[in-house]
Amino acid sequence: MDKKFENVIKDFPILSQKINDEPLLYLDNAATSQTPNPVLNEMVSFYQSENANVHRGVYTLANEATTAYENVREQVAEFIHAPNAKSIVYTRSTTESLNLVASSFGDLVVHESDEILITIMEHHSNLIPWQQLAKRKHAKLKYVELADDQTLDIADFKRKLTERTKIVAVAQMSNVLGVTNPIKEITRLAHQQHAYVVVDAAQSVAHQSIDVQDLDVDFLAFSGHKMLGPTGIGVLFGKAELLDEMNPVQFGGEMIEAVSRTQAKWQSAPWKFEAGTQNIGGVIGLGAAITYISKLKMTWIEATEHKLLTYLLPQLVQIKGLTIYGPQTVAEHGSIVAFNLANLHPHDVATGLDMLGVEVRAGHHCAQPLMTTLGVESTVRASLSFYNSLADMDRFVYDVKMVKEFFNRES
Ligand code: PMP
Repeated sequence: MDKKFENVIKDFPILSQKINDEPLLYLDNAATSQTPNPVLNEMVSFYQSENANVHRGVYTLANEATTAYENVREQVAEFIHAPNAKSIVYTRSTTESLNLVASSFGDLVVHESDEILITIMEHHSNLIPWQQLAKRKHAKLKYVELADDQTLDIADFKRKLTERTKIVAVAQMSNVLGVTNPIKEITRLAHQQHAYVVVDAAQSVAHQSIDVQDLDVDFLAFSGHKMLGPTGIGVLFGKAELLDEMNPVQFGGEMIEAVSRTQAKWQSAPWKFEAGTQNIGGVIGLGAAITYISKLKMTWIEATEHKLLTYLLPQLVQIKGLTIYGPQTVAEHGSIVAFNLANLHPHDVATGLDMLGVEVRAGHHCAQPLMTTLGVESTVRASLSFYNSLADMDRFVYDVKMVKEFFNRES
């Protein structure tokens, strides 16, 4: 075990407990990541010594809280290489970020008979807001399908992208197939047709570095809780000129410049989108999570997770009756592996693994149209993090085999 890994694991005391009398093996990082002590400590320290409502008070504590809150905005901008903090909107989650774009920006640019192009691998969060927008505007919602190797079919994307396409919305990394989509190429092609690109980075943000300027995306959304931060805090990046054009969708305190009996004038972006008291403690936690990731270095995270996957995937492929969804090779795989065991219900497999202390997800993973395309109702999903070890991978493969044998004996 390398020294860095040994130190890292100490930051996650939750991982050293027993579940059903077995050492916990947490493999549901795609649903939510665990929160390391430095992030928790930073939030505790904020509540212990700096807590006040932001942007309101003239007193010292409120100024300190406001500075801390706005500093994190700068930090987020730097983390995803945004040109400045004005393009960073705080939200509750990826879901809220995507809903904000669909209802505010979508409303401005999508009209009757226009097209919205999404992919069949989208999470419901990056699907239903567009489905709803299409219904409201009598626009057409089109889906890019999968290629034979279960990556995104770029030829199909090119076919379906037309001069009527106003918005292309796509996940950077699928929460089921584990594939990373070629966002830069997608954006280049979409912009040629004057379409705007919205990226769901919920799954990618904790596993690869993101440069919104290099990718040239128009919007990008992610959640704090999938990148070692707390729940209830999310981010929407938007190009400043687009955020400026957009109308707020929530109204109330904080987001206004002036209000009369009949009129209200909004603050500028991003504050016009942040109505009411925000999740200030969550913002502080998000900042601490970014600091934690930056200290670890994203290149180390990527290399560690790649090593885990390179070790795990070939072993899983060899288990008889086990079907992996998404590409079968490591090259195209992020740290998510969705699979099924022949004749076994995914919930039984996940329950069996839970009895052995292994926590994986089973279900449709909020991607029902994708499940239909794959010809299944649900799958098991193991999702890794840098705090998993090679020994964890051995144990996981062993436990999957145990569960398989157990149920096959029963039937
Ligand atoms: N998109 C993807 C690809 C996801 O995996 C998730 C979380 N499962 C979301 C969006 C939604 O994230 P949140 O629940 O934090 O809004």
